Amino acid sequence: MSAKYVDIIIDISHEAIDRAFQYEVPLSLSEKISLGMQVQVPFGNGNRLRTGYVIGMGDEPKWQVDKIKQVQGIVEKQVPVEGQLIQLAGWMKETYGSTMYQALMTVMPVKKKIRPVEKKTLQLALEAEEGNLRLLEYRRKHYVAKARLLEALLEHGAIPYDLAKEKLNISPTTCERLREEGTLEILTETQYRQAGTRKQLLEPEPDLNESQKQLVNAFTSDYLAEDYKTYLLHGITGSGKTEVYMHAIDVVIQKGCQAIVLIPEISLTFQTVMRFRRHFGDRITILNSRMNDGERYDQFERIRKGEVDIVIGPRSALFAPFSNLGLIVMDEEHESSYKSDNVPKYHAREVALQRAKMCGASVILGSATPSVMSYYKAGQGEYQLWKLEQRAKAAQLPTVEVVDLREELRMGNRSRFSYRLQELIQNRLEQGQQSILFMNRRGYASFVSCRSCGEVVNCPHCQVSLTYHDHNTKTPKLVCHYCGYTEPFIKKCKSCGSGMIGRFGSGTQMVEAELKEYFPNARILRMDADTTKGKDGHEAILSAFGEGKADILVGTQMIVKGHDFPNVTLVGILAADLSLHSQDYMAGERTFDLLTQAAGRAGRGEQAGTVVIQTYDPENAVVQTAANQDYEGFYENEISYRNALKYPPVCSMIAVLITAEQEELVERVAGELAKRMRTLTQAVRVIGPTPPVISKIKDIYRRVIYLKAQGEPDLLEAKSRMEQEAESLASEFDSLGEFKIYFDLNPMKGY
Ligand code: ADP
Ligand code: ZN
Ligand code: ZN
Repeated sequence: MSAKYVDIIIDISHEAIDRAFQYEVPLSLSEKISLGMQVQVPFGNGNRLRTGYVIGMGDEPKWQVDKIKQVQGIVEKQVPVEGQLIQLAGWMKETYGSTMYQALMTVMPVKKKIRPVEKKTLQLALEAEEGNLRLLEYRRKHYVAKARLLEALLEHGAIPYDLAKEKLNISPTTCERLREEGTLEILTETQYRQAGTRKQLLEPEPDLNESQKQLVNAFTSDYLAEDYKTYLLHGITGSGKTEVYMHAIDVVIQKGCQAIVLIPEISLTFQTVMRFRRHFGDRITILNSRMNDGERYDQFERIRKGEVDIVIGPRSALFAPFSNLGLIVMDEEHESSYKSDNVPKYHAREVALQRAKMCGASVILGSATPSVMSYYKAGQGEYQLWKLEQRAKAAQLPTVEVVDLREELRMGNRSRFSYRLQELIQNRLEQGQQSILFMNRRGYASFVSCRSCGEVVNCPHCQVSLTYHDHNTKTPKLVCHYCGYTEPFIKKCKSCGSGMIGRFGSGTQMVEAELKEYFPNARILRMDADTTKGKDGHEAILSAFGEGKADILVGTQMIVKGHDFPNVTLVGILAADLSLHSQDYMAGERTFDLLTQAAGRAGRGEQAGTVVIQTYDPENAVVQTAANQDYEGFYENEISYRNALKYPPVCSMIAVLITAEQEELVERVAGELAKRMRTLTQAVRVIGPTPPVISKIKDIYRRVIYLKAQGEPDLLEAKSRMEQEAESLASEFDSLGEFKIYFDLNPMKGY
């Protein structure tokens, strides 16, 4: 691509990315210059030559032409990692629809001055024998937090202070107490490095079994032959996928390259982090999404300086500035948290593949329930399919029972718990074992309506009904889950004045309330977006449950992932088909995934577990295949549905969301855009515009248009045309107000 002008940023790591300067490209360079390249430009009043990066290209001057200076030359050396990331940002801009600035902000954390924090490590100060005695003492005295920390120290020797705080929920006071008692030492980073880890305490790593070895060998020979492939590792939970990742990373590091490991934050548990540290020592850095820009920048600086070989983290770890990236691992590749909700709405899997392609790296995607998208691509030969079909450690798979809720109604059971589930809960209470009850959709919390006139109480700012909260308090309220609007619950209809106002549906709070009626002596914990609001709410509830402080845990999907509770022998899924009937094409896939994962929570320990799936639709294929843990069966069924209706992955699709404060404007813009797109392109099907399921959020009106095409190139072409049309409409409709347009490629949610 040639261009007359380029936007240049001088010294990317120290400037704000939005301060780019435009330069003219001399004819001699116009064929050579490209995004991400380093060039020399005259800078400032003295026109001193400086090096900068090309972050934008175009044919229009943004400035008075005779004031624009000329690029002097191209720096002829290897493209540094910053250049690669700029290229990646350019690709994201084109693929997902955003400005270059938005794309750059996504791939590069901006430097902010922060006080560097000294990283601290907690190290066991006792010999194992003495430590075990003290652990018994803590347990006897019910010092649960102390016991939890000491137990981890006995297992691992030393653990990072941050990790203890965040994942084990240990307070500074607890640490201080243990230090005073002489149980542990608190070491600074430098002290810790000098001391080294006390490896002798650690349990030895397992030897790979035959199936794992085969995969690692296959990877090794591909990698050493510089054949950088994408692998899809389909392996049931506990089949030893993580071990395979770690051995593949060994191969990459031995060649002097680095690796990125993506793990959804919720699955990045203490145990997982410690397993990686045990294997790789401290040439590893962990990112999390709560880090601010400055903290993330500091970690990226360590990476740039070559102090680490491996970064582990959620989505954004993908942009770690490794200059010799050799492998990207993406665990739980089906997870929806890999898709960004902000513009550019990228999917980490697609960006990982692109980054790997740009720098010659391999990719391993892993999951117990692969996305239909990836499984399809594996079927097409784009990815190499790997399987691990057995659990690495002997463990019993749970028994699954499906209960027909219609039958329960016929028998006169009006509660949310089938007779069978009630019986099993009672049994677990008597045995001193734990149960998890799972409600698979928070959005289906209870709404309030008038039995006399039918009026539903809606949010005044959003097109959604308000949700009933705090049933067991003196001041129940109605809350909007989209904007946070809250009003007190009043037992009188605003529309007709009748007092016949009632609640419907079944949120987690109501499940909890009903559970208390049936099992008054059970200790119940609830985990949903309301009870986990505080910074550590999440971990606090899970560790309380893990310590046996409750018999039953009730919650939304957030209880499904990542955590092992050996004493849980019963999992109840209260209404499996709830999430099946949402509006988008991914509903079946998401439900299968949720049901499979929820079922996997039962029987993690010595005792076998039971799973009860309650449903109004027991014949449903998704429910059936999930109950049988039959991924292939699910996939066959799902792909024929996608094929029939032309949904991804069989087709490519973009959801285009148009928003404005004025309903008339959004209506007219959406209508006009769809009309023009229909005349402009033949290869692309235009569907809509329609009001989305929620047509107004926070006083902003919304319309959606879908574009579908056989191949992605046609679709991306259509997207660019649409961006141009939107720009011209913006000036035509200027007098009516401003509108915004968002693109979502292969959307993973409904609009
Ligand atoms: P996954 O990532 O597929 O869920 P993991 O790698 O976490 O599986 O392995 C599950 C458990 O089995 C872990 O405790 C791990 O240490 C153990 N494990 C893995 N591979 C082996 C093996 N070859 N022999 C014995 N235990 C193993
Ligand atoms: Zn009414
Ligand atoms: Zn609202």
